[in-house]
Amino acid sequence: MDHSADNLTLKKYLSLVAQKKLSPKEYLLSRIEKIKNDKKNDKKINAVIDFDEQGSLQTLKENSAIENSFLKGATILIKDNMNLKGRPVNCSSKLLDGYIAPYTATACENLLQDGAVLLGRCNMDEFAMGSSTETSAFGITRNPINLDYVPGGSSGGSAASVAADYCLASLGSDTGGSIRQPASCCGVVGLKPTYGTVSRYGLVAFASSLDQIGPLTKTVEDSALLLNSLAGHDPLDSTSKKIAKINYTQGIEDSLQGKKIGFPIEYFENKDLDSEIRSNLEKVLDFFKKQQCEVIEISLKNTFEYSMACYYITNTAEASSNLARFDSIRYGRRAEGCSSLEDVYLKSRFEGFGEEVKRRILLGTHVLSSGFYDAYYNKAQQIRKLINFEFEEIFKNCDVVFAPVMAQKVFKLGEKIHDPIQMYLSDLYTTSANLSGHPAISIPCGKDSNGLPISFQLIGKKFLERDLFHFGNIFEMEF
Ligand code: GLN
Repeated sequence: MDHSADNLTLKKYLSLVAQKKLSPKEYLLSRIEKIKNDKKNDKKINAVIDFDEQGSLQTLKENSAIENSFLKGATILIKDNMNLKGRPVNCSSKLLDGYIAPYTATACENLLQDGAVLLGRCNMDEFAMGSSTETSAFGITRNPINLDYVPGGSSGGSAASVAADYCLASLGSDTGGSIRQPASCCGVVGLKPTYGTVSRYGLVAFASSLDQIGPLTKTVEDSALLLNSLAGHDPLDSTSKKIAKINYTQGIEDSLQGKKIGFPIEYFENKDLDSEIRSNLEKVLDFFKKQQCEVIEISLKNTFEYSMACYYITNTAEASSNLARFDSIRYGRRAEGCSSLEDVYLKSRFEGFGEEVKRRILLGTHVLSSGFYDAYYNKAQQIRKLINFEFEEIFKNCDVVFAPVMAQKVFKLGEKIHDPIQMYLSDLYTTSANLSGHPAISIPCGKDSNGLPISFQLIGKKFLERDLFHFGNIFEMEF
């Protein structure tokens, strides 16, 4: 190995492999070593649930074309809610214990086709419900920057894996912030693409109208590179959009002069926004002003006021319906000693699901029940339209909207796990982009007084992820 395999961005890796200064196999082995080392520690990061050493090496061995492919054998990890044929997929739940994926998710297939090696699965909050990766049946994941803190969630394992340098990049899923929020906690870049950009086929559904798969990477440019592979129409997902192939890295070094940034007043007037985060984000805004961007004050009043309520009604409703399929007949683990069919359902679900999952199923069933449907679910859908409308109006005059990712600093393990409302509030600034379907990215911009990362968020026009990469890349290159 002519070059150290540590701390490489995807872009750097691709160039080193192209120059034959690094081999994909050496890189892969060095990552496996790192993951194994963590398992020896008393205080583990525990970001990776399982990895397929033999299978990954075999892929590299069998496919001599891999070094010439777009992703050149790049080691990538996926979240435990994506199907990879022949490998376990558990959604970090006891309920899916022993379940083996019968097919491969399209997003994963796209990466494989482009020559990536999908080494293993990352820990997550059970069924992607959470903001701290503390609800997993495989144990908690710790923040690699400070092991006493949460890595965020629900894609906490995916974010921690990139931060701990276990891989070049990882995949997460974002239903209400689960890529952007952990990316922010771990100081990496997290993108939630526009709804319909990346196929959801093979992603275990949580709330189908909100879920999107996206990349977690070390840089903005890496995020664009990966989206080049992930995005595209998929006939197997009826909500995937037919859009022309886009090169997401194109133009990301151009000047930002004259670009317009929307500054939502309510987002920053919020008295719960931490003062360190606020002052950090002000500096980012100053940076963009220096790039001769125009900052326009905007109002996202309804979005700010109603997103959370709207999200938690929509999300629980869809979750209760999606999770009804887990009857322990067709999937996963079945309870022992059952005397009737109903007993199988009840006991298996009682034993298999954790507390947060049960809470969502109960809430969701309630808001969908005949007496409450109009008051809750229907109302939430009306509000959802309003939120989309509010964004669309703003995007008539702005290229991107500037926002915090989190209102509060990264918190300690155990701090919020027994207070669901506090935990839900971690999503204050992220859920709106899922409700409206707009793309949004989380980009690190500093550290708080505890030494943990602070990030800012950019929300863009639908299918214009390129704008997010453009703003983000200039920021990353110059700041
Ligand atoms: N934290 C949010 C929730 O618990 C977001 C989850 C997600 O995006 N998967 O619903």
